Amino acid sequence: MAFTRKDRINGIDLHYARTLAHPYGTRGKKTKFSFEKNFCKSLEKCFKEMFSHCPLGKPEVITTAGVFVNRAGSQHRHGTAFDFDGAFWGDYTMMTSNFMIDFELYLGMESFLRRHFGIVLNYVYNDQHKDHWHIDNSVGVAFSKNSRSKMLYLQATLSYLYQEEVVVDGLYGPQTQGAFNRVANKLGLRTGNPANSWMDYLELTGKIAFRLFETNKAPVRLLNNVYELIGDLPMERRVALAEALNSFRYHPVTDSWLASLEDNEDRLKAAIAAVV
Ligand SMILES: [Zn+2]
Repeated sequence: MAFTRKDRINGIDLHYARTLAHPYGTRGKKTKFSFEKNFCKSLEKCFKEMFSHCPLGKPEVITTAGVFVNRAGSQHRHGTAFDFDGAFWGDYTMMTSNFMIDFELYLGMESFLRRHFGIVLNYVYNDQHKDHWHIDNSVGVAFSKNSRSKMLYLQATLSYLYQEEVVVDGLYGPQTQGAFNRVANKLGLRTGNPANSWMDYLELTGKIAFRLFETNKAPVRLLNNVYELIGDLPMERRVALAEALNSFRYHPVTDSWLASLEDNEDRLKAAIAAVV
């Protein structure tokens, strides 16, 4: 196999952030990684597509826990696997460990990963993958009900993005089928076996998730960013500022204004209408 060493893909710097000096969650340190050439090409194609649709555009940095790692029995040994920790834009950070609060951006990005990689192990797959996506091409991208990882992704999108009542358990049953059919109808896709329209489902879902993320960047998220910034201040400044911000945030008028913005059903309808 032919290899290539890179610390940049499509103009995005690759960093390592799993050391004491550069812990997980930071931008880390620019590092060269060994890739198998065809696998690297797939990553380039994937990132190009993903970030052309992402409302944040191309990130400055992607942190990866490794490409070529000498781990027995793993695709990493062949330079054909990538552990994706997080992405850093000028004014936004997406860490995969933040799935629960950032699932719109997370599932948007994952939808595009899945159009290029047959194996994507994610937050809901198991505890090992709560802080990174493992991606490789040891199987094809086609949907299969027997693939636990693809089933979990499908159920997570149905539940978190499309607001269907679905248990995310990796098992294909009538509940998942019913939810998929309802969503497929809304998206103009064939109902029945998701395998029939999988690539389209991934693309539309990716775009809709990004749209949801974009419309959710509004006040609640911005306010949370301010709280996060305050958390970094020295104690004496932090207390006074947090008190001032709290009196604004928990004022009854602010409360009802924020509540009025959180009509998720309308947000979903608008996102589908914008994309389909
Ligand atoms: Zn991995």
